[in-house]
Amino acid sequence: MNVLVINCGSSSLKYQLINSDTEEVLAKGLCERIGIDGRLVYQKAGCDKEVTEAAMPTHKEAIQMVLDALTNDKTGAIESLKEIDAVGHRVVHGGEKFASSVVIDDEVIKAVEECNDLAPLHNPANLIGINVCKELMPGVPMEAVFDTAFHQTMPAKDYLYGLPIEYYEKYKVRRYGFHGTSHSFVSKRTVEFLGLDPENSKVIVCHLGNGSSISAVLNGKCIDTTMGLTPLEGVVMGTRSGNIDPAIMEFIAKKENLDIAGIMNVLNKKSGLQGLSNLSSDFRDLENAAKSGNKNAENAIEVLCYGIAKFVGGYVAALNGVDAITFTAGIGENAATVREKVVGYLGYLGITLDEEANGKRGEEIVISTPDSKVKVCVIPTNEELAICRETVALVK
Ligand code: ADP
Repeated sequence: MNVLVINCGSSSLKYQLINSDTEEVLAKGLCERIGIDGRLVYQKAGCDKEVTEAAMPTHKEAIQMVLDALTNDKTGAIESLKEIDAVGHRVVHGGEKFASSVVIDDEVIKAVEECNDLAPLHNPANLIGINVCKELMPGVPMEAVFDTAFHQTMPAKDYLYGLPIEYYEKYKVRRYGFHGTSHSFVSKRTVEFLGLDPENSKVIVCHLGNGSSISAVLNGKCIDTTMGLTPLEGVVMGTRSGNIDPAIMEFIAKKENLDIAGIMNVLNKKSGLQGLSNLSSDFRDLENAAKSGNKNAENAIEVLCYGIAKFVGGYVAALNGVDAITFTAGIGENAATVREKVVGYLGYLGITLDEEANGKRGEEIVISTPDSKVKVCVIPTNEELAICRETVALVK
């Protein structure tokens, strides 16, 4: 069957049409600047990208353009919308209501709406995507795949913060975790790839991209992850600070005359690698700058790698051991330096790096030496394929 995977943001929308039998991507692309001016990028498998500038006042016009492109006489990947058998929607926050993917009905839409204040930038946009697809493709089954669902197996000792318990009881303030689709996909694939026993496996996944999070997965179930109520918690990211002393917020607010919104803007958009380097949030820029002697870029890389190693150490304790540590996402898959530096902190686990393997890119690979006590590997993530698989499992 053909599954359309939709990842709808506030002013952009990513899509892929996947044949779930062959897992081949038939077409993919994105709509950008929705509500501003509008730009559609469309790429059929084996063909060049097509870019069309066209007015997209709302998500409805954007999704209509995607459907028109997919069914276009000349360059379409399918002949008609009848060939789309299901739509899988990425939904960022499922709160405590969703511990797995679900078929979308009116009750699900209401429950997702109720999670809006936990993810005010993302959930409303996800809902718009769902409602527009329902309108434009009536009768086609729609599924919601949540970023938070995989982490719902975390125990209370992990997800509760040291705050007055009434904030959890009244407002559900707790750790939720994100990137769940990727952590689920990559941890499962690690177990398969290494031939581990799924019922007796301890895996740590380092998803390192613009947003980064680490998770501890015991026998296929998440027991801890670094992101929290929001994606701001955890390791240093592209522009997000990750963990800081919360009192810094008041200190800086007074010094810089900022209100809470101003402080949140600094922590989400001006911190992390961008803030530390005062140069760029993009890891490649930092790597180049560090090579030419830029001290701030060098420090930013060190802060990132040391922070990752400390979380990994904590998760070895949480899991009471570890079988495999896996790197994934833009930095995890491509930045050999980061893997080398992180693994450099883990010698106490009996790990040594296979430098030649660590230099390779674009494939599933073990990067620890054969005599290492713990396997370290790189597994490329594929969130769209994971959403497609979840969708198919629900439709069948
Ligand atoms: P997102 O969270 O937006 O999905 P990605 O997973 O695409 O992010 O990761 C983006 C990050 O990956 C950027 O910091 C980018 O510099 C880094 N990255 C991508 N390719 C490389 C590369 N070849 N070497 C080093 N870093 C890379």
